[in-house]
Amino acid sequence: MIIKELFSNLAILISTLFLYTSLTSSSPLHRSSSWMRKVSAGMLAGILSNVLMLYSMHFDETIVDLRHIPLILVAYYGGSLPAVIAMVLITLGRFTIGLNSSSLLALVLIVFITVTTLLITKWRIHKQWKIFFILTASNIIFTVLICYLLPTNNTLFVLLPSFWTISYIAGFVSFFVVEYVRRNQKLLDRFKAEASTDGLTGLHNVRKFDQAFNEASSQAKQNKEMLSLLFIDIDHFKNVNDTYGHKEGDQVLIQLSDILRNTVRSFDIVSRNGGEEFTVILLDCSTERGIQISERIREKVEAHAFLLSSGDFIRVTVSIGLACYHETTKTPPVLLKDADDALYEVKKTGRNKVCVAQ
Ligand code: GH3
Ligand code: MG
Ligand code: MG
Repeated sequence: MIIKELFSNLAILISTLFLYTSLTSSSPLHRSSSWMRKVSAGMLAGILSNVLMLYSMHFDETIVDLRHIPLILVAYYGGSLPAVIAMVLITLGRFTIGLNSSSLLALVLIVFITVTTLLITKWRIHKQWKIFFILTASNIIFTVLICYLLPTNNTLFVLLPSFWTISYIAGFVSFFVVEYVRRNQKLLDRFKAEASTDGLTGLHNVRKFDQAFNEASSQAKQNKEMLSLLFIDIDHFKNVNDTYGHKEGDQVLIQLSDILRNTVRSFDIVSRNGGEEFTVILLDCSTERGIQISERIREKVEAHAFLLSSGDFIRVTVSIGLACYHETTKTPPVLLKDADDALYEVKKTGRNKVCVAQ
């Protein structure tokens, strides 16, 4: 019977926790969360603890359940503010069930668990050990208080081992669920970022470029704005690799990316579309303004001394093809071809220049 009722507590706890952690996984509770976030987490923990109390076991005048676990969780992750709010709600809920010596001792238990959790969380030990010590401390104080309340009750021989077992299981499983959902969300965020970022330079990759270009094209069409596109290619880059090695070539690509990022406007979209080929999407930008920005890039690259890992400095230049919707090009999709043709024209006629699509 005891196991059955504690098991209902466990089922409610784990399912609610899984749902809550999944729904809030984009902004998990931390000690640095906003006070609003902490207050809402504290209130939800208090409500969950009260629900667990509805499914508690009754022993004479006292009741036993897993109400301490949500409290431990918010204290562990969110610190004192959500813990105190949960503590107040748990105490109020307990007092509405009955105001007697048992409910006063329950208050002592809850305060003790809150303080212990806040203290142990600060210890510099492994997470698993922290959880173990927090659960052990709360089990010990529970045992002391229940023995004080029911000194001659034989059911204690069944209740205490059951409570210790379920409390450990519930505690560890709860932490596991929270950590599992949080870890998965972190991985998902990382994969999302990696899927759209170039690993070497941190610029957008070609997949992200396609997406950004389509969005920029629709926006330009809809708002009747201009849209310029630059195709940038390093001149004779193969020679750099052949002379200094591929790794040193990578140093050039990284430094060139910094120049591009720092030269365009903050809302322009810079991508590495592959190898030593870069693009810049210039939002709401005319041909004339596009030429100015392109020239600035070209001049900065020409003037920059690229530092290699060996300590040597080398110089490189870039060729830039520019096309502008709707000045050089009638429809946005054709911008890609026109900018590429313009770049080809530069390569044909000497490199280290800017060429505008005809
Ligand atoms: P051009 O002036 O005509 O553009 O000459 P180029 O030598 O730059 O042109 P080409 O397309 O023949 O060579 C591009 C080189 O870029 C070839 C390849 O070794 C190098 N490359 C491509 N990706 C990377 C990379 O990730 N790192 C390094 N270091 N080199 C790369
Ligand atoms: Mg190339
Ligand atoms: Mg090249």
